[in-house]
Amino acid sequence: MSYVCSKPPVWSCSCHCKACQKLSGAPFVSAFSVPSASVEISGETISFTRESDAGNRVRTSSCAHCGTRVFAQSDGAKHLINIFAGTLSDPSGFRPVSNVYLSEAASWIDPPEADFNFPGMPAA
Ligand SMILES: [Zn+2]
Repeated sequence: MSYVCSKPPVWSCSCHCKACQKLSGAPFVSAFSVPSASVEISGETISFTRESDAGNRVRTSSCAHCGTRVFAQSDGAKHLINIFAGTLSDPSGFRPVSNVYLSEAASWIDPPEADFNFPGMPAA
């Protein structure tokens, strides 16, 4: 699958929550949020849904061919789509502005420097 995004991110973060750790097998996941209407997705994806701390259903979608997790969307914020930064064709310009869920951060890493640091998920 592939995607094209025509708007700049409205938010970006490194998420240290346990769910992201388990889903990725890594200590944290970096992602950015863009308006859903600005993203064009092509190709086949497979999705699964889990419940967030706030009780929203969060759908995470992967490429059906290689299994790469590409984006996630919450029922609580359908106007946004959260794209995992490692999937950008050129991630060199990406910089996460925040750390979220620092209270769950893996004990074996120092979280990356960011402008905003939150113990959980800040209110939208
Ligand atoms: Zn997370």
